[in-house]
Amino acid sequence: MNWRTLKINKLKLVSIIYWLFLTYMIAAFIWWYVSLQKQNNEIAAIKFQTIQLSDPAIVAKTNTIQDFQLRKTKQFIGEGITFLLLFLLGAIYVYRSLLKQLRYADQQQNFMMAVTHELKTPIAISHLNLETLLKRDLDTTQQLKLLEATLNETKRLDSLSTNILLTSQLDMGQYEANKQEIDLSQIVRQSIKSFQERYPLRKCNTMVQDAVYIQGEPLLIQLLINNLLDNANKYAPISEAIHLNLQSNHNTIQLIVKDNGMGIPVDERAKIFEKFYRVGSENTRATKGTGLGLYLCKKITDFHSANIQLSSNQPIGSIFTVTFYI
Ligand code: ADP
Repeated sequence: MNWRTLKINKLKLVSIIYWLFLTYMIAAFIWWYVSLQKQNNEIAAIKFQTIQLSDPAIVAKTNTIQDFQLRKTKQFIGEGITFLLLFLLGAIYVYRSLLKQLRYADQQQNFMMAVTHELKTPIAISHLNLETLLKRDLDTTQQLKLLEATLNETKRLDSLSTNILLTSQLDMGQYEANKQEIDLSQIVRQSIKSFQERYPLRKCNTMVQDAVYIQGEPLLIQLLINNLLDNANKYAPISEAIHLNLQSNHNTIQLIVKDNGMGIPVDERAKIFEKFYRVGSENTRATKGTGLGLYLCKKITDFHSANIQLSSNQPIGSIFTVTFYI
């Protein structure tokens, strides 16, 4: 039995236990109502027996007993419905939280598998490259090629560990803010340069307005741009260019990253900014990733009181727009 089947079975078991428990509680509730109502009728019957037929106040006494019985019935129904509603609301809330927890645990498991893989691969490649450099007598060009490949792998490791570290720091509110006036145009240009060094085969069309300044944290902004560019690179065929624009309007600044990749289905759009969330299933996914990139982008834009939005590119692809307010 594989992990996925195990997980589905666990979900089924939890759901079955939950619904059985809920049915039992509702049945017990109804049983209590029936018992109380029966008791109410019995009390009324006993009271009726105490009235003498010859009593001149028989009508008034009968009415009092009937009124009391009716009041009690209304009280049981009113309180019963209130409790039942509160109980059902609580039950729905618990069930939804439970499903959310299970989904989160599932995503966390995927994240652990992805991180293990993402960590092991660059380490293994770097190890192999360095061993080859040590043991074999290579010419300078070959040596340079291996060193360059190793350097790229260490950059991959660096960006992965930065993503993980910053996510936990921002999550725990432990990130030391160092906001200052920064030249966004310059940071964008630097990010594009380093992106093109990492992916020389990818065409990048850029339109960067000069001297666009914001109050920001340079490291976080760099990470935001890198994550958006890396995603565009990962999820679009290498033949398609990536577009990056930076423009300042009246009181907003927009940073736009467009690609002509596979795009993101409309019903997934709200979820992709969640922690560890990745579109599709672990079995069918071909791209590497941890599901942290866009979560971090959202955190970074929140940190800058900015806004990140996803829309469709035409004919296909994604457009990520970050709006800073000045
Ligand atoms: P990952 O490490 O999986 O790339 P992200 O948080 O960066 O994690 O992205 C979450 C998911 O959103 C990705 O798994 C992918 O399915 C989808 N996604 C992100 N950017 C793009 C894009 N430019 N084109 C298509 N899908 C994307």
